[in-house]
Amino acid sequence: MNPFTYSRAADWQGAVHDVAADPSAKFLGGGTNLIDLMKMGVEKPDRLIDINRLPLAQVEEMPGSAGIRIGALVRNSDLAEHPLVTSRYPVLSEALLSGASPQLRNLATTAGNLLQRTRCYYFYDPAFPMCNKRQPGSGCGALEGYNRIHAILGQSEQCIATHPSDMCVAMAALDAVVRVQGPKGERTIPFADFHRLPGDTPGVETNLQPNELITAVDLPAIPFATRSHYLKVRDRASYAFALVSVAAALELEGGNIKSARVALGGVAHKPWRATKTEQALIGKKADPETFRAAAEAELAAAKGYKYNSFKIELARRAIIQALSTVAKMA
Ligand code: SF4
Repeated sequence: MNPFTYSRAADWQGAVHDVAADPSAKFLGGGTNLIDLMKMGVEKPDRLIDINRLPLAQVEEMPGSAGIRIGALVRNSDLAEHPLVTSRYPVLSEALLSGASPQLRNLATTAGNLLQRTRCYYFYDPAFPMCNKRQPGSGCGALEGYNRIHAILGQSEQCIATHPSDMCVAMAALDAVVRVQGPKGERTIPFADFHRLPGDTPGVETNLQPNELITAVDLPAIPFATRSHYLKVRDRASYAFALVSVAAALELEGGNIKSARVALGGVAHKPWRATKTEQALIGKKADPETFRAAAEAELAAAKGYKYNSFKIELARRAIIQALSTVAKMA
């Protein structure tokens, strides 16, 4: 591990000032991903700015709306069990509880979860020479390598990595908004614009600027999100990343679908909002034929590689199963 200095921020203004003054500084929250990456030699910050004492660990109702505001430092386990989440956004609670282990969820924060980095094997191994994300221009080891966990949607010739978060898949489906503070003040980033596809710059994973601090994530009121579900398909029952996951919510009226929210995990460089699936659902009868057609609409553009082509059929089945489960909810 490279040497680094450590300091503790007393307020968000100081945190933003300190990180803006040092391009290689990083914020330290739960550290559950960052410290791993530092030990592996993938991340090499020369300074860690501990933000754990900032007052950003509350979940609260937003004034004048039935939405909620989730502080950046709310721990994943606290968020999963919070009554405002379990009662209004069960899909988010399920997604959180399907991720990592209890010990990691007790430490991992909301903002840190947003900033998790891919678990691509080649990215994690600095001894491996080819990884455009870690070393721009070096090539992509996964393209012709062991790419079983890699992307089937939105990938580029530069990178086929996937985003590892479960929480973010639910937040993508729920139209979350990320609140950030920077030297120029506060701004908001719609969730769909927060994470980026790899394109020609796979090392740039979000539209967060290096001198900005995430302070909260807002969830708008979505009354029908009480009818929602997170389905995660993985190699073992716990402590494993998704091969494919689906966050789904449906509003039904007389057996027909009035509104739908669907997002996929484990399939792309960012949490994948399945807008084509949603469009194909609206106004249709909530039955397996509709769900199959809606899954096909999204996956028509999917592309597999030597070891991950199975994900296309797996995603199709997962979408159908998740929507069928939601449709049967009371
Ligand atoms: Fe690196 Fe992306 Fe290729 Fe993995 S898929 S080796 S992260 S460039």
